[in-house]
Amino acid sequence: MSAMLLNKDKWPEFVGKLSGKVWVPKVEEGEAIRFGPLSGEESKLPEYCNTRVPPKEIVFPETETLYCFQADEHEMTAPEIDERKIIIGIRPCDARAMKIVEKLFRWDVDDPYYLKHRELVTLVGLACNAPGLNCFCTSVGGGPASTEGLDIIMFDLEDRYLLETITEKGEALLKEVEGLLEEAGQDVLAQKEKLIEAAENKISRSVDTEGIAEGLPGLWEDPLWKRVSASCLGCGTCTYLCPTCHCFDIQDETEGFEARRYRTWDSCMFEEYTRHASGHNPRPTRRERTRNRINHKYSYYVDKFDLIACVGCGRCINYCPVNIDIVEILRQVKEAL
Ligand code: SF4
Ligand code: SF4
Repeated sequence: MSAMLLNKDKWPEFVGKLSGKVWVPKVEEGEAIRFGPLSGEESKLPEYCNTRVPPKEIVFPETETLYCFQADEHEMTAPEIDERKIIIGIRPCDARAMKIVEKLFRWDVDDPYYLKHRELVTLVGLACNAPGLNCFCTSVGGGPASTEGLDIIMFDLEDRYLLETITEKGEALLKEVEGLLEEAGQDVLAQKEKLIEAAENKISRSVDTEGIAEGLPGLWEDPLWKRVSASCLGCGTCTYLCPTCHCFDIQDETEGFEARRYRTWDSCMFEEYTRHASGHNPRPTRRERTRNRINHKYSYYVDKFDLIACVGCGRCINYCPVNIDIVEILRQVKEAL
């Protein structure tokens, strides 16, 4: 593992030298931050806690063509996925989320689209010095400097970055820019440890996950589900913005003889999501849909992959229009156990 320093005034040179399409957090509109391709105008990373839309959209696009076909010629072509991407500034929770979601896309069949995107992406994380008000990553296996899923982790040391490599992919990336870096000494590594401790101490929200996965099936008919879903609007924001949510729908689109099959994000919080062709819906109300969302993340995924499918990023709390709070739901689950 290498530990190298980069002066922030060399940032434009650093990102400009990397071979591949570089994605960085950018100010989208107002104060919203979202990842986008480097345009050459960015002289530094913006100040941000985290992006509103998670960077899952880079490896699992909101809408992705699976293949195109000519109806009259019986020909099908799949789009090439061959672009190397480097995501700089991804937060540790979002990189962990990609690792968690990968389990699903490698499950009963390998998903060639997702896995190809993942193979071609290099993740350069930025440890959190100032976690957000609703972050609870430390309760679900992560932390402000978790390295899971990352190839490199960066630490913001005010006028410079410390870059530590995690994987060979990360080592190879630093080789491309070695002229811009200098080796970090023990004093810097000690400073990093203090930053991590301070960041962990700033996390004020927590969930006691002990017994939740095993206990949830026994709470199937508990009145808590009606209570916690009473104000839900069924808007799907909590799932669209969740870095571990991965449901999708597949549709065909035609124009004359030309057609494409594409997949597009879907949400288990939508009424149509489980509605059968017969009209029957096994999750007819928001009570069942909210119960499914929590069970999926905190029980089914644990059963199947031994992982909680929530990284504690807090987005579903921050952006729910009616302030439904997953930490509070889990507290009520614990109370009901
Ligand atoms: S964001 Fe809030 S209101 Fe919208 S579906 Fe999720 S829980 Fe319901
Ligand atoms: S469930 Fe909420 S807190 Fe957990 S990963 Fe998804 S958006 Fe983040």
